[in-house]
This record gives sequence, C-alpha cells and structure tokens, in this order.
Amino acid sequence: TQSDPFDLVVFGGTGDLAHRKLLPALYHREPVGHLGEDARIIAVSRRQLSDTEYRDWARKAICEHVAEVDQEALERFLARIQYVAVDVAQNTGWEALEEKLSGREDFVRAFYLSVSPDFFGPICSALGEHDLVTEKSRVTIEKPIGKNGKSAHEVNETIGSVFKEHQIFRIDHYLGKETVQNLMALRFANVLFEPLWNAAHIDHVQITVAETLGVESRAGYYDTAGALRDMVQNHLLQLLCLVAMEPPESMAPDSVRDEKLKVLKALRPMSSEMVERNTVRGQYRAGASAGGAVKGYLEELGRDDSSTETFVAAKVDIENWRWANVPFYLRTGKRLAARVSEITIQFKDLPHSIFLPDAGRIAANKLVIRLQPDEGVKMQVMIKDPGPGSMRLREVPLDMTFAEAFSSRHPDAYERLIMDMIRGNQTLFMRRDEVEAAWKWIDPILEQWSQIKEAPKPYTSGTWGPSASIALIERDGRTWHDET
Ligand code: NAD
Repeated sequence: TQSDPFDLVVFGGTGDLAHRKLLPALYHREPVGHLGEDARIIAVSRRQLSDTEYRDWARKAICEHVAEVDQEALERFLARIQYVAVDVAQNTGWEALEEKLSGREDFVRAFYLSVSPDFFGPICSALGEHDLVTEKSRVTIEKPIGKNGKSAHEVNETIGSVFKEHQIFRIDHYLGKETVQNLMALRFANVLFEPLWNAAHIDHVQITVAETLGVESRAGYYDTAGALRDMVQNHLLQLLCLVAMEPPESMAPDSVRDEKLKVLKALRPMSSEMVERNTVRGQYRAGASAGGAVKGYLEELGRDDSSTETFVAAKVDIENWRWANVPFYLRTGKRLAARVSEITIQFKDLPHSIFLPDAGRIAANKLVIRLQPDEGVKMQVMIKDPGPGSMRLREVPLDMTFAEAFSSRHPDAYERLIMDMIRGNQTLFMRRDEVEAAWKWIDPILEQWSQIKEAPKPYTSGTWGPSASIALIERDGRTWHDET
C-alpha cells in the first residue's frame, strides 16, 4: 500500500550503504506505487553537490545495483530526490536543511543515519537544537550500536534524549530478510512444528553465517570490531531469539520484542572458564577463496600485531524449560569455504527403530532454514527407496526453496525495513533493552578474551575455520552441517 507523504532525510547520502542498498531499495518501491505522491528523499552529506549532480550519482547507483530498471519509474523516483550539504563535524549547513523541511511538519519525517556512529550524537543534538524533530519524526540507526554495553548505553541515551523510543528504529538487516520472517511464519502459521519445538524433540540448533569475502577495504573499521561485535552481538543473537522465543501474543512490535528479550535474558552468562571452553576465535591466513589466492587478515590490515577475530564459534545455552540441555552452536567468519547463512534445527534420533540393519542408517530429521544463497526451507526426512527389494531407507529433502514457490522478485531486506520504518512499524527493529541485553551477554566474552594473552587461532582462507571450532561441536558427539 501507498505510504503517507514523507520526507526521508538520509545522512550519509553519498556513502557506500546508500549506494549499494538504500537507493536501490527505495527505487524498487517506486514502480509498485508505494511511494506516495508527496514523498521526498533528501540526501545529506558533507560534499557540496547540486540536486542534479546527486541525482546523476543516484541514477548510476540504481542502474548498477538493480537488475531491471524501468526508465519512467527511475525518472519519477529521481525527481523526488533533493540534496543538502551538512557538515556534521563542522556543524554547518543545518539552516539549509531546516529550510528544505519547513512547511512539511505534518508529514512523516524520517531521519536515516547512514554515517559513522560517532556522528549519531552530534546529528541528534543538532536536529534537536534546530527544532527539526516533529511528532511524526523517526530516526533509523545502523550498526554498530556501541562497542560494548557501556558505549551502547551511551548511544541509546544520546539518541533517547532527542527521540522517544517509539521513534527510534535500530536496524538489524537480518530481520528484514524474507527467510527470517518466514521462520516466524513457519513456526506460528503451522501446527506441525510448534509441538516439536522444544527440548523433548530437538537435539540442538546450529546457526552459521559464513562469508567468503575478507575484510578488504573495511580492514580499518573491522579491526576495531571483530566478528563477535560485528556479527554475533546483533545478527546471530537475533536469529537465535527468533528460533528460541515463545509464541508472541501477536505480531505487534512489543509482543515480539518482549519475547526476544526474554530469550536474551535467559542466555547462560559465560564465566571465564566457559569462555575458554565454549568459544573459539580465529583469524584467517592466506589461502584460496573463490578460485583465487587471497591474502591473510594481517596482510590486508598491513600490521602484524592484531588479535582481532575474523571467526567465532560458540556453544550457547538458554536457561529455560523449552531449551534446557539443547545447545545452540553459533559460528560466523570471513574467508570461509562457502558463502552460506543458515539455521539448522537438528531433531533427536528415533527412540527405537523397527527396521533391519540393512535398511541403512536412519538420520534424525533436520530442518534447514537457509538465508543465503537460495533462500528457502528444507526438511530432511527419511523415506523408503522405491523398488520391490528389501526395505531400504533414504534421507531426502522436502524442499521449499522460495524461488520455485514464488516467481516474483525477492525483495532486499532494506526495502522492507525502510518502508516499515516510514509506516512506523517497529516489529522488525531492535528495542533498546534488547540491544543492551545482548551486550550484557557479550561483554564478559570480550573481557575474557582481552585478559588471556592467547592470539586467535589461525585458519587457512577457504576452509571452515580453525580446527578448534570442529572440536567444539564434535566433543559433544555432533557435527557442523556443512552441506552447501
Ligand atoms: P561511508 O564511509 O561509505 O559513508 C559515510 C557517509 O558519511 C558519506 O556519505 C560521507 O559523505 C558522510 N560523512 C562523512 N563525514 C561527514 C561529515 N562530517 N558530515 C556529514 N556527512 C559526513 O559509510 P557506509 O559504509 O555507507 O556506512 C554508513 C553507516 O552504515 C555506518 O554506521 C556503518 O557502520 C553502517 N553500515 C554500513 C554497511 C555497509 O555495507 N556499507 C553495512 C552495515 C552497516
């Protein structure tokens, strides 16, 4: 449906995220008529550019990242865009933005902070000082939200001093992915799964987010973060919450977020002993990826004294009735053997087999929710091999790959999230207490890692990470689901 009229002010309008994600995502809403007649996009950054110069840049971004561009829709879309130069560090240019927005106080006014987190505070303060925050204002912030619990609290305080919680949209783009929302549909729109969704029937859960890329040009930023902060604190824990949460009352933002928060609070805190036993951190060395030789992390960084992890594996316990003794194994890293993000729900073995040994091994059922590539859901079940011979069993996937079920284009996470934000729906955005609860669980791990002098375990690019990660799960008699 068409949105109410809005002004979307994108700080960092000339940045990488705007180029690759925000502009293409917004453009996609044009041909389908979701951008109301009076909707405007106001790009803001430091550089002095005319509207025409910025529109040319935006046109290139869209043509580069959108497969089929409708020229008429593109022109209509570009005509909505205006550009204003504001230098946040120098505190200049705000009057021009004020002028641009004046007279449109009754419209939705959405600020998207696609800039370094150091600017979140100064931008919010300036918006407050210049009286630019209206009743219908919202603000969207990108990750990272802090570097630890304390700094996340400070960021939240700063933003919270200008915007109310219902106006603050903290993006975790994993929540905008179709498959992630499908996880909720699967669990709560079917009667099949929920009765089995607990410690009585599930042996363990795996969440893997594996990338083949290295840090490349982002090495400077990445070195201050590492995989635990960059991926686990937000994306992997959010996925864990959606798998583990109790059924919310409804899809209302606070119903869903209340349930996710309960999961975060039920994560078993990691003692220093547990950090040593249940976490593995790694750092990639030179190797081969996507068919070519690639450099190691330290070479990419240009320094040899970094102990930043580019890989993390962890065994996580959730202390509640539903998940008692059901470990969640999390794993994420760069320069791994394949680009794959998936959640595997591993059910328990049969209590008893009625088949003869020559029927073959009976694999326990497995539900694999794949986020990328080829988004979809696969249920591994046992069936009988066809034929008149003796009873032989075989594992086959019941495949629900969405590309086959739906011929339409798969929208990018940002399309969904930006429109939800403009419409004021916070269900797929992180609430303040969730972010802070996630950090509360992460902080002791960071602390323990900084205490021990041991370097992250090296792993060769193009592999599944350090062997200690394999040992982490195999010592429990389980294996990583590495099928790609
Ligand atoms: P970027 O460095 O490419 O762009 C930064 C933007 O900020 C540019 O438009 C620049 O002009 C603007 N800027 C810099 N200094 C300024 C100043 N003094 N005043 C006004 N504007 C100024 O960064 P990016 O990759 O687009 O990332 C933006 C935000 O999104 C960051 O918070 C980042 O952590 C987050 N993020 C980015 C990605 C990604 O894939 N790029 C993914 C997730 C989160």
